[in-house]
Amino acid sequence: MKFDLAYCLSLDDKLSIYDVRDLNFDETMAFDSAKEHFQCPNDACRPAFDVANELGTFNAKNVNYVRTPHFKNLPSTRHVEGCPYVSLKTQASGVEETDDSREEHFPSELLLTRREYGRKPSSPKIMADGVRDESLTLSVTSNVEQPSRELAPDKTSVFAHPVECFVSNFDDKDLLKRVPLKIGEHTAPYGAFFKKIEYLQDNKGLIYWGKVKEIKDYTQSFRIDFEKKVWFEKKPYSVNVYLSKKLIDSYRKRKAFLEEIKHAIESGRELYCFFYGVTPELKQVPSKKNPEQTFGVFSANIENLDHFIVREAPGLDGK
Ligand SMILES: [Zn+2]
Repeated sequence: MKFDLAYCLSLDDKLSIYDVRDLNFDETMAFDSAKEHFQCPNDACRPAFDVANELGTFNAKNVNYVRTPHFKNLPSTRHVEGCPYVSLKTQASGVEETDDSREEHFPSELLLTRREYGRKPSSPKIMADGVRDESLTLSVTSNVEQPSRELAPDKTSVFAHPVECFVSNFDDKDLLKRVPLKIGEHTAPYGAFFKKIEYLQDNKGLIYWGKVKEIKDYTQSFRIDFEKKVWFEKKPYSVNVYLSKKLIDSYRKRKAFLEEIKHAIESGRELYCFFYGVTPELKQVPSKKNPEQTFGVFSANIENLDHFIVREAPGLDGK
């Protein structure tokens, strides 16, 4: 049993590992997962132990990860009997769980409105061991009507989560055909919601993905060129998306985003780009050599950086 969620002590809420990553990189939130305390999400298990009974994290702070992020049992983590989060492996061998895994928890919906995480107002709270937890008196952010309460556990507002489901289960075509994903008004199996960039004309409003050919760093924007071309009226056209630097500068995860782009430009690795929210369309742009001439290209401006990812995805190579 892997952890879909973990209880975060200071937020008094259950988070996915993707929520944790989002919070770590969010420059408007004071949050560092290395200093937070995560515990078993099972409400029947957690109170049986004191607050020192914690879970660990894997790839919670690594901007450019390859292996699936997750919560894990530490060798010291204990659960009550019958808790589904007991690690059988750990129990049997005493060895820590391996970090090799694929994402097993498929969110049924990507919510386009970002989840708000509010720290609890500083009310005295007696913990299981009778000690008042000081972390609860930390800065209180606006905590309006607990919007996160409406978030069902199988929904997410972090784009990286469904993308990781798709990438880490890419070889299991049946599974991707079976599990549905909803975004906005549109529902389709994961395998159909993720559309190869060369087939973008098939349907609008999907998650498009493809191998990155090159990233160009311009004064006001980055341009991501895709390797594959789109065929339209028997002619091949290049595909690209633009990222406005103005948009990046005002982004709440600016530093992490620039690190992701910098890595993409410099790493020399094979990278894949995933985006949602815009569909590249055929445009005529002036040729550099002959400004009088124009040529056609399928292009779009990314409007929301929360729905854009460039990452390594070894399982997709050559596909
Ligand atoms: Zn437990």
